[in-house]
Amino acid sequence: MAAPQSQSQSHPPRYFRNQEELRSRDPHKQLIASLTRLVTEHPPAQVTPGGGLFYGPVSVAYLFFVLSRLYPQLEIEKVALGEWAARYLKHAQGFMKDYPGPEASRCGVNDDVMAMVAIDAAGTLDPDLVKELCKFVDVTAYPEASDEWLYGRAGYLYLLRLVKACFLNDTPTLELIEDTADEVIEAIMESPRPWKWHGKAYVGAVHGSIGIITQVVLTDPSWAPKLEADLGALLSYQYDSGNWPSSIPPNKDKLVQVCHGAPGVIISLESIKQHFPKLKKDIERAIEKGRACILERGLLTKEPCLCHGISGNALALEQDHFEHFLSYTTGGEMKLLERDGMMEKSDDPSGLWTGEAGRAWAWAVADKGLEKRLLGYNDI
Ligand SMILES: [Zn+2]
Repeated sequence: MAAPQSQSQSHPPRYFRNQEELRSRDPHKQLIASLTRLVTEHPPAQVTPGGGLFYGPVSVAYLFFVLSRLYPQLEIEKVALGEWAARYLKHAQGFMKDYPGPEASRCGVNDDVMAMVAIDAAGTLDPDLVKELCKFVDVTAYPEASDEWLYGRAGYLYLLRLVKACFLNDTPTLELIEDTADEVIEAIMESPRPWKWHGKAYVGAVHGSIGIITQVVLTDPSWAPKLEADLGALLSYQYDSGNWPSSIPPNKDKLVQVCHGAPGVIISLESIKQHFPKLKKDIERAIEKGRACILERGLLTKEPCLCHGISGNALALEQDHFEHFLSYTTGGEMKLLERDGMMEKSDDPSGLWTGEAGRAWAWAVADKGLEKRLLGYNDI
């Protein structure tokens, strides 16, 4: 049933043909099934530490932390979601002395220490923990620090928004968070263009310019006018196919996923487009073309996940296609894909951006009718 789009001896097909009738699955049932697999196949003690909000125990704890607010009554294997969050976090905290902590080249959402402090601050509402998080500005505003989301300043901005949402009524703490964010944004804006990571001008959500623009604008929309030229340039990089190159100058039009390509750009644009009124028409056209490309090439053979898989790609689509894409991420469907040799397994099968926790997030978005956002990126 999963007919490959192209066969090659050296590389398995990247995606399979989107040829089935539109279909959907009960998202609530699938959410429960996904969370049950998460805690039974990847219990806290068995998840390798490391990965921050991206993969690993902290990322799973963050999923449960966020879902516990959305589903206060829900239990998985007779345990409340908040308790699961605490168990994964406790497991991660057990390795505290092994984490190197942030440094200039690694100070984004991937950093376990910063991510744990942020989640802890949001959970306990302890302003001292916010102070601790804000002290890392010494690292993130350092002149040589990375700018992108996974390992750089843009990711730190997400962590600041995460805590900000919990301290809206505490003026001194709120001011500290905003001052810290200002400092980081100024450092990002002072970086030469195009922003580079490891010497390459990436475009996508995880390492590239759309990720940086999105984090700055969601943190402080008043910067949008100063980012208009950067966003205009980014829109101009779109291929005729509707996809975006991974980096500039463009190479082969290959990857259609959140980290590299149209899905990450579209999900980002959807959350910042209202701040760019002059680009409104260009953005709308770009989104439409990008979605057509995802419908054609977005049913990926990598294990469904947020970063480079069907769950993330689904979030870039309109409702009926979103539900259709998610229907390929059920336990049963994944077994069929595996049987057909159409699934390349994840190295981090539990993680929020790399595995089961991300699949669960996408089902929760469908179940609750949430805005189609990426958890840890543009959900706040
Ligand atoms: Zn990826």
